[in-house]
Amino acid sequence: MRISQLKKQFSVQLEGEFPSTEIMSFFYILTEEYLGMQKVDIALNPTQEISKEEQTKFESALNRLKKHEPIQYITGNTEFFTRKFLVNKSVLIPRPETEELVEWIISDHRSTGQELKILDIGTGSGCIPISLAKELEDAKVSSFDISSEALLIAKRNAKLNAADVLFRKLNILEAEELEGQFDIIVSNPPYVRELEKKEMHQNVLDHEPKLALYVEDENALIFYKKIAELAVKSLNPAGCLYFEINQYLAEETKSLVQQFGFETELKKDIFGHYRMLKATKQ
Ligand code: GLN
Repeated sequence: MRISQLKKQFSVQLEGEFPSTEIMSFFYILTEEYLGMQKVDIALNPTQEISKEEQTKFESALNRLKKHEPIQYITGNTEFFTRKFLVNKSVLIPRPETEELVEWIISDHRSTGQELKILDIGTGSGCIPISLAKELEDAKVSSFDISSEALLIAKRNAKLNAADVLFRKLNILEAEELEGQFDIIVSNPPYVRELEKKEMHQNVLDHEPKLALYVEDENALIFYKKIAELAVKSLNPAGCLYFEINQYLAEETKSLVQQFGFETELKKDIFGHYRMLKATKQ
């Protein structure tokens, strides 16, 4: 089969399921992944033959896309802060909003010149600690997650990106202390409530790990409370706590964190939603 035919078949099969621009972007992600061909290569070589084996790969991807599985789980990777990260169903697909959180931390701490001790809580794919370890020279970075499956992926990502991060298994809600003193503690904990599920896409609801996303409505800030409480003891003087937050709970999260004696600052993401909170130790 020629690549031009494959492209045609691919779009016909997904028509109606997704907007046409999205279908084409899926197609080019897959051609890059499976054939090492970009859009321009396909435009220049429309008659290139695709082997049976390659066709099978596209068919299987197509079937998964029809079930609205995220393209990142199909290819097994994504990009975060210019680097490649492996992902599977055990980890949340890193979001652009989280890149903004990482950017905030880096811009606050890039030029301090001191050795920073950093702790990330709820590492998932490891996108936060790995990016920080790469961007902030001399930082000593460690990270926790409750899920052994997530830790496996995070460790593979650290290796892939040649980052030095220590990963450990821990249920933060059961922790009595954090073991050690830190200059920066960061977390993007679960924060989605039942009532917010209706604005989420099917691919997220059906395929991403529930453990990483959801909290009980009546206890939506449970992770923020626990982490702020532990951070009171474990942050160095002038240390900072950075959170990704639920945009609908920005004020509540801020007041909660203030109750632990932190000075707080909210920040909006590129979509204009309050998505980040910085808490500084007095
Ligand atoms: N820290 C990871 C991320 O930001 C995972 C977060 C999570 O699973 N809640 O993508």
